[in-house]
Order: sequence, then structure tokens, then C-alpha cells
Amino acid sequence: MARDADADAIKRAYRERALRDHPDRNPGDVAAEERFKDASEAYATLRDPDARRRYDAFVAAGGVAGQGARGTAPRPDFSTVDWRSVFQEADVPLDWSRYGSAGAVPTTGHVVFDVLFRGVTRAFRQAGLLPGEDRRVPLRLDLAAARRGGVRRVHVPGPIVCPDCRGHGASCATCGGAGVLRHGLDVDVRVPAGVRPGQRLRLQRMGGPGRPPGDAFVEIDVALPAGVRREGRDLVAEAFVTPLEAARGTVLHVAGMPVRVAAGARGGQRLRVAGGGLGGGDLHLTLREDVWRGMARTVAEGVAGLWSETTAAWRRLATAGRKP
Ligand SMILES: [Zn+2]
Repeated sequence: MARDADADAIKRAYRERALRDHPDRNPGDVAAEERFKDASEAYATLRDPDARRRYDAFVAAGGVAGQGARGTAPRPDFSTVDWRSVFQEADVPLDWSRYGSAGAVPTTGHVVFDVLFRGVTRAFRQAGLLPGEDRRVPLRLDLAAARRGGVRRVHVPGPIVCPDCRGHGASCATCGGAGVLRHGLDVDVRVPAGVRPGQRLRLQRMGGPGRPPGDAFVEIDVALPAGVRREGRDLVAEAFVTPLEAARGTVLHVAGMPVRVAAGARGGQRLRVAGGGLGGGDLHLTLREDVWRGMARTVAEGVAGLWSETTAAWRRLATAGRKP
């Protein structure tokens, strides 16, 4: 009974230290690695009665754990300790599969600690001992889609917490009981009308495993038509009209918005289309009189009827401008 309580207290004390100096929390930290190693050696010794007797003899002879022999007793030999089973026994989470791809996974010798501290492992997060990582999901929309919103399918990269069982796993068909979807998940996201670039849509608890689980953030980007730029929520562009259009007035289509140009408009004139921007912003236009670009615009807009009219008007202008 007392012996068990003693063993439990030792295990708790070791686990506490091991989690504090864990390689995931202290990647590349040499001091943390030394503390982690010392605590692990001490625990590996204390949990084994035979090793503990040798250890006591070692300390009695003046040796200090982790610093080599100073007395006549031989330094305890840790070269055959199976660290993997030591960590497992004390519930210290370590992601050994991470090292499996590189070949044989060392479980004995000091190389184990070198390997563990060389890089961050995901074990800590997956064991729920740290907050889960957030996931970024870029979503590029064209202007029309950004304005009207709607449902879009996106891929949230894994590993993520299984949304169906919320990570509990048990008899969950979606994740096969793992609680985690290694390769992520395709999800339908409701994009609100009027989103703007840089806006983030939060998919709660769709991030990496941990405590609490991370979130996924859909990061909106909006592809603007050529010649249109954004200033905050407003869109700014130039609009090209032929001299005839300027004289008679017309309706343009800029950045997906119909724009009425009153008769007698002049180059340099500014127009504002309320609500023609993004997320409630406006569309600001500067009118430019330009025969060729105006015509190119009308053609692009498919206003075929204007073409002959504009060409005729241009001929008239050209004739008028010619010196006699
Ligand atoms: Zn599941």
C-alpha cells in the first residue's frame, strides 16, 4: 500500500516535470532537454527496485544524477532503458510515428532525447495538452460571388478534430474511431453576401486537435476586374466613354454594376455608385472620354448597336478635326 502510494507519487512528480520540459513545449531548448533527460533517468531508476538500489549506492558515493560519476560507484547505466515504455508508463505523450518514416525508431540510448528535441512533435497537441492549431482555408471569389454570397465547398486541411464525434472517436464512422481526420475534410461554407478581401469566416472547432480544439478560418480574397482597385470597402476605377456617349448619356457596366452617365458628361467627372463597392462600400468612377477605349468597352459589353454609331461618330469627329 505505502509502496504503491510512493510509486504513484513518483510517477506524478515525474509526469509533471516531463510535461513541463516536454520536447513539444521546448523544441531545441538544451536546458529543457537536460532537465527532461535527468527527470526521465531518475524516474527510470526509481521505478525499478534493483536499479534504485544501484542508484542509491551511486548517490551515496557522491554521484549526481545526470552529471556522471564522482565517486567510486559506477554511474547507472541507462543505455538499455527502453524510454518508450518509460514514457508510456508515466503517460507522457510522444509521437513516435513521426520518426518511423525515417527508418528504425530509437527507443534506447541518449539519441532518443536528441531526436525528441530536434523538432516539434504533434503528440502534445493530439493528447489534448495544448490548444489545437488553427487552420487556414483560402477562398478566392470573383466580385459577383462576393456580392451575392452563397454556399461554397472548401477543403479544411488535416489533421482536424472529427466534427461528427467532436474528437471522442468511439464508434464514429466518419473518423473510424480515431477522433481525428488526418487528411482534413471538405465542408460547405455559407459565405454571407457582401464579403470583402481579408474577411475571415470562422469554422468553430474545425481546427487541429487539442484542448481546446483549434478553429478553421476561411480567408476571403476577392478577384477584382482589371483596372478596378479597392480602397477599404470602396472600389475605384476609371470608366471610358466615347465622346458621343458623353454627349448623349449612356449606361455603363463597371465592376459588375450598371452606371448611368447623364447626357453632357465630361471627361474627369466623378461618379459615385452607392453600394457598388464591397461589404456596403461605394464604387467611385472617374469618367474618361476616349474613343478607342470607349469603343473597346462597348464591344466588350456586347452593346453591338453602339459600335456602328460610335464608329460613325468617330469618323465625324475625325473629319471635323481635319484641317481643310
Ligand atoms: Zn469521429
